[in-house]
Amino acid sequence: MLNIIICGAPGCGKGTQSDLIVEKYKLKHLSTGDLLRKEIANKSELGQVAESFISKGNLVPDEMIINILAKNIEAFGNDINGIILDGFPRTLAQAEVLETMMSKNSKEINVLVDLSVKKEELIDRLLKRGQTSGRSDDNMETITKRLEVYEKQTAPVSKFYQNLDKYAAINGMGSIDEIFGRISTVLDSKL
Ligand code: AMP
Repeated sequence: MLNIIICGAPGCGKGTQSDLIVEKYKLKHLSTGDLLRKEIANKSELGQVAESFISKGNLVPDEMIINILAKNIEAFGNDINGIILDGFPRTLAQAEVLETMMSKNSKEINVLVDLSVKKEELIDRLLKRGQTSGRSDDNMETITKRLEVYEKQTAPVSKFYQNLDKYAAINGMGSIDEIFGRISTVLDSKL
């Protein structure tokens, strides 16, 4: 089983690379951002609460996100090749809950793949995406906030997995194929 986390600042290419990883390694994809956007589109109560955080560039409260995650992981069942977590964990508290959840089920995270991209390039990508994504958070003000939140709250998650020796820093600059090649080298070594 290959269970991985893909992380990096907003706009680093997590979603694009996740799709390629899912196809090659036949993993189940779990994007907490996508799950929240589905709730927003369905106008559920949870979606409305989530939107008030997302549109300001803040993280959704840990408890809310952990509940969604646990429900969705359970739904995958046991007969799978593994999971790719995209956009989770985003805080140390989420990482700790994830580790407890995995070890309770005799499973483990094999590696956290950390995509690094220069700040100017991130902003450029997100503003471009904003022209077509319809996302309430792809505008300059919210992007600036999201990058700050990433540095403060999410970067420590990388440190957490570095300390567990389950960490791979990947250069996220270049073509989609080049970046995927770098990720594949890391993942192949974990099979
Ligand atoms: P993403 O699509 O991963 O960029 O997520 C979009 C937004 O959803 C983030 O800026 C957060 O507001 C929220 N979100 C997604 N995943 C999480 C998470 N693991 N913890 C808290 N908030 C999250």
